[in-house]
Amino acid sequence: MAEWHCHKCKVPTEEKEIELLYMDMPGFQMAFVCPSCNGKWVSEEVVIGNIIPGEEELEAKLE
Ligand SMILES: [Zn+2]
Repeated sequence: MAEWHCHKCKVPTEEKEIELLYMDMPGFQMAFVCPSCNGKWVSEEVVIGNIIPGEEELEAKLE
């Protein structure tokens, strides 16, 4: 995986598990955290991984 850097601080971010509220789904997710400014980024893979199961569930309910 490519190393992520904070845009502001120009330092490598740390990969950490953070508590996240996304699309009304609470839970712990892997995120990139800047050790300097404490900025947090969730990787696109994590976001996609969250959205797809939700959509499948919705389709299942419509059948
Ligand atoms: Zn930073």
